[in-house]
Parts: sequence; C-alpha cells; structure tokens
Amino acid sequence: MSRRKTRVVKIGSIAVGGGNPVAIQSMTKVKTSAVAKVAAQLRLLEKEGCEIVRLSVKDNEDAVALRRIKKMTGLPLVADIHFDWRLALAAIDSGVDKIRINPGNISDRKKLAEIAAAAVARGTAVRLGINSGSLPEGRGDTVSRMVKGALKYLRILEDYGLSRMVVSLKASSARETVDAYSRISGLCDYPLHLGVTATGLPEHGLVKSSVAIGALLLRGIGDTIRVSLTDTPQQEVRAAKLILEAAGARTFGHEVISCPTCGRCEVNLAKIVKDLGRAIAGMPVTGGRHLKVAVMGCVVNGPGEARSADIGIAFGRNEGLIFKSGVPAGKVKYENCLAVLLSEIGKMGRAG
Ligand code: SF4
Repeated sequence: MSRRKTRVVKIGSIAVGGGNPVAIQSMTKVKTSAVAKVAAQLRLLEKEGCEIVRLSVKDNEDAVALRRIKKMTGLPLVADIHFDWRLALAAIDSGVDKIRINPGNISDRKKLAEIAAAAVARGTAVRLGINSGSLPEGRGDTVSRMVKGALKYLRILEDYGLSRMVVSLKASSARETVDAYSRISGLCDYPLHLGVTATGLPEHGLVKSSVAIGALLLRGIGDTIRVSLTDTPQQEVRAAKLILEAAGARTFGHEVISCPTCGRCEVNLAKIVKDLGRAIAGMPVTGGRHLKVAVMGCVVNGPGEARSADIGIAFGRNEGLIFKSGVPAGKVKYENCLAVLLSEIGKMGRAG
C-alpha cells in the first residue's frame, strides 16, 4: 500500500509519520490525579499493545500528577488540554511527550504563542486536535470549517516556531471524518492522527470507526489511530489492532479465515474457530511468520481457500482435509483437528 508522505514526529520513543508503522493510541479513563488508578490502566494498556497514551488534564492537580506518572511508565504520554492554556504550560513542565490542544477552545494568539514557546524549549510535540463538536469560528460546512481551522492554526503555531506537530480532524460522522482527513492530507505534510469522535454504543463505535479509519488507511492516509469507544481503553487497543490488520496496515498475529457456515456444513465450525482464535491469541510471532489459517465448512469454497492459506482445513462429514502451503496433507478427524492445526501453526510459524 502506498502511504501518504508525512514528516516524522517523535513522541517519546515512538516515531510517527514518514512511513513508520501506524501507531496505536488510547486514553486513560480515570482522573489523572488518581495516580495509582492511572498506573494500573497504563499497565493494562501496555500489555495490550498500546503505543501512545493520552491523559486528560482538567486541573492543576492533573498537570502536576503527570510528572509522577511519567516516572512510572515508558509509554509516551500525551496531555489532553482544553480551555486553560496554563494547564498546557504545566503539562509541558511536567515532562509529557506531547500535548493536545483544541483551537476551538484555546484560540487566543498570545496564549498559543506561550504554549508554542514552552513546547519548542522543552522539545514537546503538539497535536492540533480539531473536533466537529468544538469548531473554531468560521464559515462554511463542517468539513470546510475543520480543514480551514486546522490550516489556520497550523500556520499560527508554525509562526511561533513549532514544527513537531500532528493533526486530527475528528467528526462524529464517518463521511465527514473521511472527507476532512482526505482534504487536509493534500494540504500539509504533518502526520495525521485518525479517529472518529463520540461514536455511540461500543458495537456502533467499532463499526463507524472501522468504516472511517479503514477507508482512510486504504488510501494510504493516517500515521496514528485512536479508536474512541464507550468501553475500556484495552478494548480500544484491540479494536485498533483489528482495523489495522483488516486494512493491511500492520499485522499482530496469525490470521484466521473462516467461512460463515451454511446448511452444507456438517461440523461445529463456529466452535473450532472460536477455540482456535483463543489458542493463537497469545502465540508469539516475533521473529517468526505471520500465518494465514483457513477453516472452511465444506468442499464448495473450502479447498480453494484452504489451498491459498499457509495452513487450511476443509471439512466434510466429521473429518477435514488439511492443506499445508497449498498442498493436501491428509485427513484429520473433527475431534483432533484443533490439536493438529495448532501443532502445524507452531511448526510453520517458528520456521520463519
Ligand atoms: Fe457453506 Fe461450504 Fe461456503 Fe462454508 S464453505 S459457507 S459450509 S458453502
């Protein structure tokens, strides 16, 4: 996939843009001054594979707590600031790797100049986070206002010496989100942080985010993503990984392909697929091969899909025909198929 060319912006240990892997972000969901609770969420996020974490800074207590939190984790931290520019200064002083500011609620030039000067002096990155729910003043439709607002404030911050910036233009509609990011991607070379805002019920949020973020990733747009869900932060990370994998932007583990089953299927395929998914979820692939494993319910599409996967099985009545690298490799009884598939995945995955 050809990716849009962007400049590289370092956020702590993670480089965003310039062809680097699309980084996964999430946000803690407890008050930032509750340091022990934040630390617990950070541990869970790191374990899940989150690469950048944002924390809300609502008051000075939160801003000051960032200094302690920074010492507890190696994850790059982003302070989310709204309304009060002094909190941006305090967060930068606490040593965060990036701040997010919203020109819809901090637009005064003197305040922006102070923030920019502090960020430049400390080497802190800045995300200009435009949100359709809090747009800077201006005319036109939502998408035009988002794009114009982003360009206007990017230029202002550039004039104050900032170059380490990332941009987001989040709307609550997938269409507006895709239009806004597509438009701005041709107008600046800053890395784009993709996301949809206020996504609704978790399953709706997952689908809406997949549509919008997926459409952009498939066009080569996007350098980091956050899937906003009314759910746990870990769930946001899981969703981000699934979207990145489906868009072919990154791979995190072995991939299972399975048919939806129909009246032709004579085995409990849903159970095998679920059990297989659970068993390979924690399987390390570092240094090895990311495998495609096909589990198919009958001979209609089964042999074709199984043949084109690294490992495949096409079921008949109570048994399945195994394929390894496209070649039939014998029949296996239904009750043994999970063990056989796992053993083959283990051997082939390690082979690299
Ligand atoms: Fe049905 Fe066979 Fe297709 Fe699966 S592969 S959906 S069982 S026809």
